[in-house]
Amino acid sequence: MTEVNVTLTGTGTPVPVPGRAGPGVFVQTPDTGIQIDTGRSTVLRLAEAGLRADEIDAVLLTHHHSDHTTDLGDVLVSAWLMDAEHSVAVVTPDGLTADFARLALEPLQGDLLFRRSHRGVRRIAEPELLTFQPSSDPQEVWRRGSTRVDAVAVRHEPVLAAAGYRIATPVGNVVVSGDTRACDEVERLAAEARVLVHEVVDPQRVPDHRQHTIDYHARPDEVAALAERAGVDVLALTHLWPSPEHDGHVEDLLAAVRGGGFTGDLIVGSDLTAIRFDSHHTSITVPDRPAVGVQGRHSPATPSRAAAAPSSPVVFTTPETP
Ligand SMILES: [Zn+2]
Ligand SMILES: [Zn+2]
Repeated sequence: MTEVNVTLTGTGTPVPVPGRAGPGVFVQTPDTGIQIDTGRSTVLRLAEAGLRADEIDAVLLTHHHSDHTTDLGDVLVSAWLMDAEHSVAVVTPDGLTADFARLALEPLQGDLLFRRSHRGVRRIAEPELLTFQPSSDPQEVWRRGSTRVDAVAVRHEPVLAAAGYRIATPVGNVVVSGDTRACDEVERLAAEARVLVHEVVDPQRVPDHRQHTIDYHARPDEVAALAERAGVDVLALTHLWPSPEHDGHVEDLLAAVRGGGFTGDLIVGSDLTAIRFDSHHTSITVPDRPAVGVQGRHSPATPSRAAAAPSSPVVFTTPETP
């Protein structure tokens, strides 16, 4: 059976907070493994999710902000240390992000040389850099078997070359917004998507000295309206800025998105949240971590954390869709 697994490898932002790695999403299809963005601690989160860095065939970078790119070298070297023999495709907007990707292994060359001679292993396979000019119209940027990746320009000005991605599979599509204010480009890309992973800013909680950040991120009500118009099945909020500090902040985000009109399954993401779907079913697995919120379209409220055993995940399975 064709099944797609979407794992949030990081839901944080540039400002470090406990429990949230840098932004990232791992999408596993029957054909391939794709990592979108490589924020801090990506490989650690993959390991915690039972995934392996050497399962990554392609890395998709959204834009050149350090929180999204900083662990690219770690991802590539870790795959090699886990005996990956293949060349990882690094798909990136042209310009600064591509320049960064091109140099990602440079600071590690001395270490790579030492390890090769020490262990007697072969050279790391050079990543295959695939660059594109983001445009408002989706363009295919990578493909493996029946899995196709399309990219679109998103609106993260003053960052000019910023992209969102759609991973299209025979059982449905996954869209990752990257960093952007709510925009038509993502809405069109997300049409009828099974899963939309979208960034969000809570303007009420942004500190005075960081008010400038509100303009290039997406408000909860705007994301809600966008996702509803697009007909999205599951909306997972990530890149939570500012990071929720307690359940009340999560409840506020859930309420703001519902108030904005989104009626599908809704997740305020935490690291390692997993969404699994095939052609008929969707299931959402939430790790037992603080400040997490999921609200199924048929459930009236966020489940009580106390209701779950301390070390067991909370699993929601949506009713079978027609
Ligand atoms: Zn960011
Ligand atoms: Zn950014």
